[in-house]
Amino acid sequence: MLYKKISDTVVLRLEIGEEIISSITGLCGELGIKAGIIQGIGAVKEAKIGMFDFETGEYRDTQLCEFMELISLDGNITQKDEKPYLHLHACFGRADGSAVGGHLREAVIGATAEIFIRTLPETVERVYEDATGLNVLGI
Ligand code: ZN
Repeated sequence: MLYKKISDTVVLRLEIGEEIISSITGLCGELGIKAGIIQGIGAVKEAKIGMFDFETGEYRDTQLCEFMELISLDGNITQKDEKPYLHLHACFGRADGSAVGGHLREAVIGATAEIFIRTLPETVERVYEDATGLNVLGI
């Protein structure tokens, strides 16, 4: 993981074998990032995406074990129980040109990732909401 801070933005490069969510979570701890906006592109060699099932209150996961373009990584950094909480969605491009995506649970870099994190000067908390079973923005 290599990064450079420019004003309120962290420019991040992940390398082969690094996992996106754990890498960014670690960076948040290292740099004290409490809230931010994440955008990225790159290529992965495996990923797990989820779809929230409102009947069971759990994510239904799909494991993808193939080299794919990371067409779009989009999401945010907030705080839950005083720890970084990442909410990321991703769209991946397959070799046949089709796309697959969802709520990102895990993604391992297959070539590189170019991720820009715009940091915010205040904390945004997450709170559990009974109605949806989700940790929603506490605003
Ligand atoms: Zn989501």
